[in-house]
Amino acid sequence: MISFHVIPRERRGKVLKKTTFGCLKGIYTINVTNGCGLACTYCYARGYSQAPIRGDVELYRNLPFLLQQELTNPRRRGNPDLVIFNTASDCFQPHPAILDVTFLSMKTLLEKGVTVSFLTKGEIPSRFLQLFRQWPGSVIAQIGLVSLSERYWRHFEPGAAPPVLRLENIRSLSSIGIITEVRMDPIIPFLTDNEGEIERLIGTLKALEVKRISLSYLHLRPGIAKQLEDELPPLYRDIIHTCFQNQPWVEVGTSTKTKLIPKPLRERGYKRIKDIAQAYGIDSVICSCKNPDLKGGICVPERIIKRRPFKKEGEKDRQLTLFPC
Ligand code: SF4
Repeated sequence: MISFHVIPRERRGKVLKKTTFGCLKGIYTINVTNGCGLACTYCYARGYSQAPIRGDVELYRNLPFLLQQELTNPRRRGNPDLVIFNTASDCFQPHPAILDVTFLSMKTLLEKGVTVSFLTKGEIPSRFLQLFRQWPGSVIAQIGLVSLSERYWRHFEPGAAPPVLRLENIRSLSSIGIITEVRMDPIIPFLTDNEGEIERLIGTLKALEVKRISLSYLHLRPGIAKQLEDELPPLYRDIIHTCFQNQPWVEVGTSTKTKLIPKPLRERGYKRIKDIAQAYGIDSVICSCKNPDLKGGICVPERIIKRRPFKKEGEKDRQLTLFPC
């Protein structure tokens, strides 16, 4: 576990805003904090211009109040059907003040009939499960989990909940009727994608009744490359360096400078994972926004896909600026 410093901030203006780009275009999204204490080494949100310095997290402490105000405003034309948490932070960061704001925000939304969705690598406290138990049909959950390896967790996701607690999240959510999807992102070649490792993870997910997983290999942006260089031990840095060394910077989604793992390596890895998932009867989808050169799909949960506003013909899914998790 790593420590971080929470700085309370007052948010101003409307909090319920629709995303204007990517495959969540037209859907309301919300972040409880600016910055994220989980400090994943591969997180590109850490490089955002508005992100606080490493170790600081700005908490929007008036978020529940603003949500209540907006949802009860008589001049508002209808409330959102769905609000997605965590496009640039994690709402289950292990800090009491952050969890309080998350709890009150979710409670406010659920009580007003709004479905809440989140993707998390944190531990979900039991009071949330008691809350969700009242509205299981209005909660859409996705857990970020690439590997059961403790070494991977300690080096790549030092502030996130250990894998065993994320599995416990899935079990607890399932026990109250919330079927959870798993996002395996970012998969690291030669570290987390070998057959034994994948089989162990997918077999465990099968036992927890997971039905669908989404897959994406690590991609690089200049900011991510620097974080990996600064924060990983030499062995891991060398593996990543080898994977990307001859790859050009290309435009992917809304990012003008991205490096992808070589296509043959990704193709082989995805096939290996998909074959194992299929053997266990789990659906798997390759995130197409992070793999524009491969046949893929959309990595958000199916229940969100069904709710997306109608897309114009020919419009592409471009999600790369969303969901650093
Ligand atoms: S990847 Fe997600 S959980 Fe990790 S630091 Fe970034 S926002 Fe937080």
